[in-house]
Amino acid sequence: MSTVTFRGVTKRYGATVALDALDLDVGEGEFVSLLGPSGSGKSTTLNLLAGLLDADAGSIMIGDREVSQLPPEKRDIAMVFQNYALYPHLTVFENIAFPLEARKPRPDAANIRTRVEKVAATLGIGNLLARYPKEISGGQQQRVALGRAMVRDPKVFLLDEPLSNLDARLRIRMRRDLKALHQALGSTIVYVTHDQSEAMTLSTRVAVFNLGKLQQYAPPAAIYGRPVNAFVANFVGEQETNFLDGTPVAEGGTLAFATAFGVISLGRPPATVTGSGKLRLGARPEAITALPDPSAEARIILAELAGADLFLTVRGRDAAEVVVRADPRADALAAGDGVRLAFDPQRMHLFDAESGVAVSHGGGPFVD
Ligand code: ADP
Repeated sequence: MSTVTFRGVTKRYGATVALDALDLDVGEGEFVSLLGPSGSGKSTTLNLLAGLLDADAGSIMIGDREVSQLPPEKRDIAMVFQNYALYPHLTVFENIAFPLEARKPRPDAANIRTRVEKVAATLGIGNLLARYPKEISGGQQQRVALGRAMVRDPKVFLLDEPLSNLDARLRIRMRRDLKALHQALGSTIVYVTHDQSEAMTLSTRVAVFNLGKLQQYAPPAAIYGRPVNAFVANFVGEQETNFLDGTPVAEGGTLAFATAFGVISLGRPPATVTGSGKLRLGARPEAITALPDPSAEARIILAELAGADLFLTVRGRDAAEVVVRADPRADALAAGDGVRLAFDPQRMHLFDAESGVAVSHGGGPFVD
């Protein structure tokens, strides 16, 4: 177990800045996800840490050891890839034992057996040790790949989209298993994913990347509730964040925002918005309630039932649209209905419309 520190780490490919002056601290025993869309710099970050790439600038430390100049095998890390890359001609036992067999000096056979069996028991694959990879399921293969990493007892685990080859149900099951495993082992894990729900459910902290730049690094609840900019607000969450243009207005000593859906009370002091730039309101679907009102200007144009939730697309003035979450059991709402929208001030975010930078959030201290 160890910490990981990036200081000013930059990687370029010709004119492309794949990673721009990254500063990142991973604490001992943390599960940190590197989250972002394709091409945002996640793999570059992981591969730099693994030693598979060389940085153009900056320093990388594992614990108190500077590793930037060390080859991968000297960094005391274990990597698990998306395609588990098991050896097909070796049994599960031999696959897990492989890193120990390759060690110099090689541990004795009894020692290897003990360690492989312990890891296999932790992963619940102790009964599969004699099988070959093609004789076990995808989820089991993924466990073997994890086992092969665990048996080395590394300082840090690097996981590169390890669940992305699994089907949707199995992914969720393996996600839970991985979280339980992390809780049990207390290992330091750096995990790459483009799947926001994976990052949110697994991590102690999430590092959100876009265009080679770290956007925000915080625990999942802070990333979700207090996104630093419109990109993070929109990228994180099962549903997209609604954005509405408008203008701030004072309403009885508090701040409100005039939009195509009327004046939305923000319930915070007017001084929380300074400057004269254009603003944009961000509201997640669950922060808006639709109330039936036949005389209302806003109409439901689409109703999508998603099991436990009903998502309503509501159109207001100037063809502005928002998606609202409703409860299919309680709310008798359908396409064509007129609705009045109630916006929860505690969950409204204001962004600078040009830069996308957050200006203020409801439900907590304001952005400086
Ligand atoms: P991610 O893992 O988030 O999908 P990457 O770290 O792979 O993103 O890539 C970051 C940026 O670096 C992208 O613009 C990508 O096109 C570029 N890049 C990555 N690898 C190479 C390479 N070998 N040659 C040129 N450009 C690369």
